[in-house]
Amino acid sequence: GEVATMMDVPITKVISVCMSLGIMVTMNQRLDAETLTIVADEFGYEVEFITTDIEEAIQVVEDKEEDLVHRAPIVTVMGHVDHGKTSLLDYIRKENVIAGESGGITQHIGAYGVTLDNGQKIAFLDTPGHEAFTAMRARGAQITDIAIVVIAADDDIMPQTKEAINHAQAAGVPIIFAINKVDKPTANPEKIKERLAGMNLLVEDWGGKIQSHDISAKTGLGVKDLLEKVLLEAEILDLKANPEKAAVGTVVEAFLDKGRGYISTVLVQGGTLKLGDYVLAGKHHGKVKAMHDERGNSIKVAGPSTPISILGLDGAPTAGDKFSVFQDEKEAKQIAAKRTQLMREQSVRTQRHITLAEIGRRIALGQFKELNIILKGDVDGSVEALSDSFSKLSTEEIQINIIHKGVGAITESDVLLASASDAIIIGFNVRPSASARQLADKEEIDIRNYSIIYDAIDDLKDAMEGMLSPEM
Ligand code: GDP
Repeated sequence: GEVATMMDVPITKVISVCMSLGIMVTMNQRLDAETLTIVADEFGYEVEFITTDIEEAIQVVEDKEEDLVHRAPIVTVMGHVDHGKTSLLDYIRKENVIAGESGGITQHIGAYGVTLDNGQKIAFLDTPGHEAFTAMRARGAQITDIAIVVIAADDDIMPQTKEAINHAQAAGVPIIFAINKVDKPTANPEKIKERLAGMNLLVEDWGGKIQSHDISAKTGLGVKDLLEKVLLEAEILDLKANPEKAAVGTVVEAFLDKGRGYISTVLVQGGTLKLGDYVLAGKHHGKVKAMHDERGNSIKVAGPSTPISILGLDGAPTAGDKFSVFQDEKEAKQIAAKRTQLMREQSVRTQRHITLAEIGRRIALGQFKELNIILKGDVDGSVEALSDSFSKLSTEEIQINIIHKGVGAITESDVLLASASDAIIIGFNVRPSASARQLADKEEIDIRNYSIIYDAIDDLKDAMEGMLSPEM
């Protein structure tokens, strides 16, 4: 409809051109770039695409190999509720203080850094859980290098343990298991490892490659060794950054302090942030008036993998917003204004995520190679049956990935994962919660509900062949 108006031709003509291309559309349907180009060409128009990716507007400095130096790993702690995520983060916060510095970390700024005895550093994100992790990813920010998945040894692999594992894997972030609460007499770490093996997750003791360590977040037993393993994993990942450039990074949290103004915690990912730098973060900007670390110390420079709270922005950016430093204040302000405008337009215009109805067309256009599916069902049997059948539908052209499956209602966390991984959600005899439904509408995530296994399989098959009839 919108395209027809722009070209000043009847809507029916646009629809019939689409039909002649084998594309069934309605007037409210959005067309992808290729289709738009072809349709416009039919009417003698040329399409000019204006980038909505604002990051392109910002000059990306390519780092030279010789400028890169090692940087500390950035770690997120995940796991089932009550398995000890907070306790672990608290223990590390209290015990691992920089040599010679008295007292632990006093400020909660959303992230903190620790220095081990050997001088090596690790940065922790202080909001545990895979929801926060995936919410960041859904906003286009991946800052976590390594995920510690905490599992209570006196319990079992629980639904949120599985979720955490799947969310980390969907992001391609390596996992280290922390088998917790081994101080308890009822703890059975071997059972946990056996269960993990049953899920095809082989830890070292079981001859696998995944690191794991038995710990007690309460007594601190094994925590130091766990951190050593984090450093080992980091070494394998060969994490590097260029400290010698204007800083870039991601916002971890931000809030308004009544006395001091907007305080934002950022994680520097490249370059070095300096006092007095002019910063653009999301749609907010300002000169860095003060910087503090998690110990409340005033800081003048912050290099890669350093979490730091800054004072001076003209508002509170959102967690997951990127930040960058500008030489020129005017330029930063212009980009901030452009971003605000683009965000407004983007929210009404773009179709951001894949839908089942779109798949066939995208496959036909040859650019769609992988379909990510999140599968939720009422019982384990049907989830497994569907997951098997879906996987078997993979063809040479398209690979089907079940990035997460589980028993229970479709939750916000599922929708976030779909958004972060461009997946569709299939529910079998389960419905989304009200909040999940709302989020799915906002993020434009396709949720399909089925109660007959063959219907689900047929729909997916039809969609892949571009034969799915539009939903009524
Ligand atoms: P979270 O929900 O994963 O953040 O879990 P918490 O850190 O809040 O821990 C849940 C409960 O388990 C709390 O009562 C903790 O004191 C307890 N807990 C955590 N770690 C350990 C541990 O290593 N040993 C024992 N005995 N209790 C623990």
